[in-house]
Amino acid sequence: MRTARCLCGSVEIEAFGTPITSVVCYCDSCQKGSRQIEALTNAVPILGPDGGTDYILYRKDRIKYSKGAELLKGYKIEEKSTTSRVVATCCSSAMVMRFDDAKHWVPMYRARFQGDMPPLQWRICTKFKPENAGVPTDIPSSTMYPAGFMWKLLTSKISMLFSR
Ligand SMILES: [Zn+2]
Ligand SMILES: [Zn+2]
Repeated sequence: MRTARCLCGSVEIEAFGTPITSVVCYCDSCQKGSRQIEALTNAVPILGPDGGTDYILYRKDRIKYSKGAELLKGYKIEEKSTTSRVVATCCSSAMVMRFDDAKHWVPMYRARFQGDMPPLQWRICTKFKPENAGVPTDIPSSTMYPAGFMWKLLTSKISMLFSR
């Protein structure tokens, strides 16, 4: 079990079992969303210098809002967007992403975890990276979504359906 904790410790979200994967996303929505959160009072940076935001993806049924859930607030980059980036309002910490549609996974901001971390597997959607940004080559990158990443999302959906 890993715990995502806001900076001041008032909000905790527990994540159980092995995550689906851990990625750095460079898509334009994540860049915009991360900047939106960073602009909040007392927020700390979540966007890397290269324009990437780090996430650990968990199955929806593997996370539990264990402490301070009433302090969470969702932000959308556009009113009609189906994605919210959920912030702990006590200290403006980015916690998770929430989808209004049926997506079965929850991207959690990697910066909220400490200690035993799953390895990063991909840098995704790099075609949107800021023009002058150099993307590190430590792990595989994909201009959009790599097949292995899509496969992991698919197989995690299947295993979730069968675990009910
Ligand atoms: Zn807090
Ligand atoms: Zn993204």
